Amino acid sequence: MQLISNYKDLETQKRIKEIIPKRKENSTSKKYVKELLHWYKNDFFTWCNKPKCPLCNSDKNIISVETCASNEEEKQYQSYRTEVYKCQGCGGNEVRFPRYNSPIKLLETKTGRCGEWANLFGAILFTCNFKTRFVNNYEDHVWNEFYNEEEKRWIHIDSCEEAYDTPLVYEQGWGRAMTFIVATSDEEIVDITPRYVKDWSIIKERRSDIMENTLKSVINKINNDLYMKLSDEEKNKLSERRIKEKEEFESKTGNVKEEEKIPRQSGSEDWKKERGEI
Ligand SMILES: [Zn+2]
Repeated sequence: MQLISNYKDLETQKRIKEIIPKRKENSTSKKYVKELLHWYKNDFFTWCNKPKCPLCNSDKNIISVETCASNEEEKQYQSYRTEVYKCQGCGGNEVRFPRYNSPIKLLETKTGRCGEWANLFGAILFTCNFKTRFVNNYEDHVWNEFYNEEEKRWIHIDSCEEAYDTPLVYEQGWGRAMTFIVATSDEEIVDITPRYVKDWSIIKERRSDIMENTLKSVINKINNDLYMKLSDEEKNKLSERRIKEKEEFESKTGNVKEEEKIPRQSGSEDWKKERGEI
């Protein structure tokens, strides 16, 4: 919720507008979002396995020391934990990697892992007036979705992979077990797991009744508060989108696209090995 409310900050939006590629006339939403993704991944944001030592300008001799609570200065930009490293190339220089959540700060640091990537890309989508979701799979990966008005459906977006509309890539390409995938927007929270699994009936069985009911009641409680802030028109649009989405989930064919079979691209080999992805 904090992330999404950051997106409404006008200064953040102003700075984003200054740097993103402009939408060309007659450009479809699909075309424009793909263009944004390409620019973001290739010309703007960078992946950070380990931070660079500012003295050596390299991450070659950096070793991990600990993760600690962020200091006051880092907290100003919504960093709550900071990874601390030491550079062995220059006699133990301490290098800090605060995990910032403030999009305005990320515009400046231009680096991070999937959390930072998805956070800032969500802010960019929001600034371009797309309905935007921040998606969390609770197995340590996050990404975005945006609502494509022309196609009347939510589209999966993973900016660190430059992925557009390939929701099965985590299960089929990365080999991850997906159980709970939840999307947050400024209007509601939705369990969107069916979009990300090939065979929903198998996954549904994996989710215990307790988990299922707890999740439902938490989501309902948050949504009831959020809906109170919406106008009748917004509520109607929301329920239209939700009905369509339910239909989409129910009519899934189980086909897997070629692009959904590719393994993870982002992160170094060592980093992925540590996480058990290869
Ligand atoms: Zn150094």
